[in-house]
Amino acid sequence: MKVTEHIEKAKGKTLFSFEILPPKKGDNLQTIFSNIDPLMEFNPPFIDVTYHREEYEYKELSNGLLEKIIIRKRPGTVGICAALQLKYKVDAVPHLICGGFSKEDTEDILIDLNFLGIDNVLVLRGDAIKSEGIFRPHPNGYKYANELVEHVTAMNKGKYLHDEYASGATNFCIGVAGYPEKHFECPNLDTDLHYLKKKINAGAKYIVTQLFYNNQKYFDFVDKCRNIGITVPIIPGIKPISIKNHLTVLPNVFHIDMPQDLVLEVEKCKNNKEVYEVGIEWSIQQCKELMKHNVPVLHFYSMGRSKNILKIAKELF
Ligand code: FAD
Repeated sequence: MKVTEHIEKAKGKTLFSFEILPPKKGDNLQTIFSNIDPLMEFNPPFIDVTYHREEYEYKELSNGLLEKIIIRKRPGTVGICAALQLKYKVDAVPHLICGGFSKEDTEDILIDLNFLGIDNVLVLRGDAIKSEGIFRPHPNGYKYANELVEHVTAMNKGKYLHDEYASGATNFCIGVAGYPEKHFECPNLDTDLHYLKKKINAGAKYIVTQLFYNNQKYFDFVDKCRNIGITVPIIPGIKPISIKNHLTVLPNVFHIDMPQDLVLEVEKCKNNKEVYEVGIEWSIQQCKELMKHNVPVLHFYSMGRSKNILKIAKELF
């Protein structure tokens, strides 16, 4: 079932969902299951699985030349989605990224997803790899997420890259990312919203936001979206902080603000055990307010760990 159908079916009740990462290469799928199992009590209608692009490493050869080696650290998104659907009977939402993939690679992934009965995809551009610093698209790939949304929409209309071999259409529900505090590469929020609308016009049916800790940023973002004619559901992304380091790491990595009240609470903590509890309490209060505003779904970034999310969900659902 499509994410948008789950939202319609809930008739205004806030749903619970979360996102997981594929385990590092060679890790056991059981680790993922043991984190998901306790969360199933809260009936997530869908679970997202992130996609990860390659990174490079250079190896020195015996002749002194450098060989560029491509490494994929977390492959397996498609397989994990299939396993989740079979084991838990929930809808898996694979993320799909432009970076590192040709148009053909992407289309093949989508065809596999279609065969596996996966109804949703979250379409993203992906980030730059560490060694490059700025995002460089694959030579035969897409530069922006809106182009990849157009590709999936075309497939939904039965149009493929090499049409002579095609028959039938896919029927994916497409989600995209939105940034209440703007995407870091964009000079201002209005321009970022202009591009967000481009993704919606290309066929995206819902938005999942970047994590944030100040609900007012989400409310303002939703208002701005509505003012420019974006009417699709906007799902807030929540990540409880769990260690003191998050105060600096999260703003650096995700380009978000930390409210001063939260910073002061964390700074009072004597150890990370206390920070963990502060993070849980902050998320509970954040989510309670979001639920009062009838958000369609609370989407948790679990990063593969579930204990704090379990505690939060117990208070809310
Ligand atoms: P885009 O929408 O393409 O935007 C990228 C930048 O370009 C923005 O600054 C935008 O304003 C600008 N822009 C957009 N379109 C155009 C255009 N047509 N012309 C000019 N400028 C334009 N990353 C992963 O690698 N794997 C994941 O699984 C993953 N999951 C994520 C899930 C969520 C909910 C979120 C919020 C992010 C996720 N990311 C993931 C990170 C994401 O890939 C990065 O934030 C990336 O830098 C931007 O992706 P995007 O899809 O928002 O890009």
